[in-house]
Amino acid sequence: MLQFRIGNGYDIHCLASGRPLILGGIFIDHELGLLGHSDADVLTHAIMDAMLGALSLGDIGHYFPPTDDRWKGANSLKLLEQVNHLIQDRGWQINNIDSVIVAERPKLKPHIGAMRDRLSSTLNLDPNQMGVKATTNEKLGPEGREEGISAYAVVLLSATV
Ligand code: MG
Repeated sequence: MLQFRIGNGYDIHCLASGRPLILGGIFIDHELGLLGHSDADVLTHAIMDAMLGALSLGDIGHYFPPTDDRWKGANSLKLLEQVNHLIQDRGWQINNIDSVIVAERPKLKPHIGAMRDRLSSTLNLDPNQMGVKATTNEKLGPEGREEGISAYAVVLLSATV
């Protein structure tokens, strides 16, 4: 019998000068970057939380705590690979993912394709299983004031049991 599980994830990181901006594993040239213990890839973090949430496995803070120096400056794609192994070990696979980044600047449209390719190849998915979208916040709220960038993700997992 084919079974499905759905998960959702959300994350936000502060913008600061002197930090790289990495979204979906792609370095984006910008005068501000995201603050965080790891590389602060807010999109990849939201996707991981959606994958873990689908199986009620908690959140990434549980698996990669910011108090642990092993994850300092960590490449979030490496953590994403580990989360994928976690769900595969339990017999589940990703059906599809959809996500949205909320950022006032920079323009993300030119980078969406590269993010899709990087994330889908990291997860061994076809790019058409990996939705990445971006929107501004119409200058409203922390994202609109360029204090931070947030991301939302949903994932559908399937398993044959
Ligand atoms: Mg995070």
